Amino acid sequence: MKELIKEAALILKRSRFTTAFTGAGISVESGIPSFRGSGGLWEKYDPGVLDLQHFMHDPAGSWVVIKEIFYDFFGMAKPNKAHLVLARMEKEGLLGRIVTQNIDNLHQEAGSLLLSEFHGNSKKLKCLQCHREYHPGQISLDHFPPTCVECGGILKPGFVFFGEGIPQVPLAEAYEAASISDVFLIIGTTGEVMPANQIPFMAKEYGAVIIEVNPEPSNYTDKITDIFLQGKATVVMEQLERQLFPAALDDDQDGIN
Ligand code: NAD
Repeated sequence: MKELIKEAALILKRSRFTTAFTGAGISVESGIPSFRGSGGLWEKYDPGVLDLQHFMHDPAGSWVVIKEIFYDFFGMAKPNKAHLVLARMEKEGLLGRIVTQNIDNLHQEAGSLLLSEFHGNSKKLKCLQCHREYHPGQISLDHFPPTCVECGGILKPGFVFFGEGIPQVPLAEAYEAASISDVFLIIGTTGEVMPANQIPFMAKEYGAVIIEVNPEPSNYTDKITDIFLQGKATVVMEQLERQLFPAALDDDQDGIN
């Protein structure tokens, strides 16, 4: 592992443009479970609440569950070390963009600015009628469905539901990142969700080196990953940080076991 971390750090330092591609796994250590797998949200909840047709048919019923998952529960989470290292990499000129599938706002809270929210953001609510946007704090979530102060239209969370298209701007930014990146750093995603899962494959076709961080192999590992850093996001990213920014070294040790 030590040699792989060093190799990955060297590649990242030499890269002209690096993109991080993140999924639910990067936020697991912030206390937000992934959707799939053991302990995932779909063991407790019906994914149907995030289906657009279901929401349009029964917005009040959908909102009861949506509030519990995305506002009561996600609302408590704070960025972890992996989010913070990516934000630092951006500040220090080592990261050109994050394309995230996550909707939890934790990259923003960590300080990342060059961010494409492929699936939108739960920290925005949008009026289905007049398209006005709100922050959750501006709206009472005591009565369902919440409605627009201006026009009385139903408010929908600002993330992409099943059956809904990907917003144009992050889609275009993700395609651009895939076409110009020397390095793609994939963190915490199974690579199962279409069409987001195609972005790293595109990057590979354009010639990017693929570095992947995940405790388990994903759909990418055997197919396109060049360096697999097997482990939890916080642990691996902290080790990577120590190699990327040697001033962070503790006296005479490099922090890698
Ligand atoms: P996923 O649920 O399909 O897979 C999670 C991945 O994270 C797995 O590969 C798992 O091995 C890995 N993982 C688990 N613990 C980890 C850790 N500590 N460090 C690093 N990796 C770890 O997630 P996905 O591929 O992102 O797809 C799920 C979709 O659901 C996404 O598109 C996203 O929009 C949404 N989602 C978002 C959140 C969030 O915003 N935090 C949470 C759940 C789901």
